[in-house]
Amino acid sequence: MAGKGERIFGLIGFPLTHSFSKIYFNQKFEAEHIDARYLNFELPDIGDLMEVVAQYPALSGLNVTIPYKEQVLPYLDEIDEDAAKIGAVNVIKFIRKKNSLKFKGYNSDMIGFSDSLKPLITPARNKALILGTGGAAKAVRQGLINLGIEPIYVSRTPDPKKNELGYDDLDSHIMDTHKIIVNTTPLGMYPKIDTCPDIPYGLLTNEHLCYDLIYNPDVTLFMKRASEHGAEVKNGLEMLLLQAFISWNIWNE
Ligand code: NAP
Repeated sequence: MAGKGERIFGLIGFPLTHSFSKIYFNQKFEAEHIDARYLNFELPDIGDLMEVVAQYPALSGLNVTIPYKEQVLPYLDEIDEDAAKIGAVNVIKFIRKKNSLKFKGYNSDMIGFSDSLKPLITPARNKALILGTGGAAKAVRQGLINLGIEPIYVSRTPDPKKNELGYDDLDSHIMDTHKIIVNTTPLGMYPKIDTCPDIPYGLLTNEHLCYDLIYNPDVTLFMKRASEHGAEVKNGLEMLLLQAFISWNIWNE
């Protein structure tokens, strides 16, 4: 039962096997004596969203995960400019006024990525290769653009019309001119930790930054091989943790 004044936050997705957010937020609420609860809403269909909203009048904000980051768009009244460019939302702010409820969508993948990248930017790191072209890659791309870094996608099936590169195109010129490399593919993620993107690791230098969105394991094979050639490396943990702060700020601003 919700207590008087208790706010509810939650995560929608399907399936919801692991949930960092639920553990993080409920620990935060307890430690900081915040009258709130964080629930997981495993929805077989995005059409079930409005039922959840009706069932929980104290619902004050949601996180959105796979497969609904794009499917949730038609339910929003407003969308943040960057989230609109990315075409995906993973935080929903509930704006309740007297008799109305409005939803505004944001993309915390983008904000978490760019906030964590900012301190690592150097003048030489002004162009980036994004390995993979999925949902996270689109958020990474927008984050790079906002930071003034020129991104280019690297795909197994490059689309020349979109100026994408293939892995075979990664020659010494490309590697030398792109000093940031972001892995947004699932290669190397637990349990398949012995895999990594097929890039020419031998062409990396100590000016390169190799950023892996994966955070389990701590050090992926991509990071290990890159650091063997002197590159600076970073995993996706800070990006993940920042997203919880970002969500909380969005819900409370
Ligand atoms: P996704 O939509 O499945 O996209 C992954 C992309 O990687 C695909 O579009 C594909 O691009 C490429 N790819 C897939 N399988 C591959 C393979 N076997 N070999 C080479 N390339 C492959 O996944 P996502 O939602 O973007 O997430 C990607 C990764 O980012 C996941 O590991 C996820 O856990 C992580 N992530 C981390 C955070 C964080 O906060 N740290 C946030 C979001 C996501 P092509 O087909 O063009 O090659």
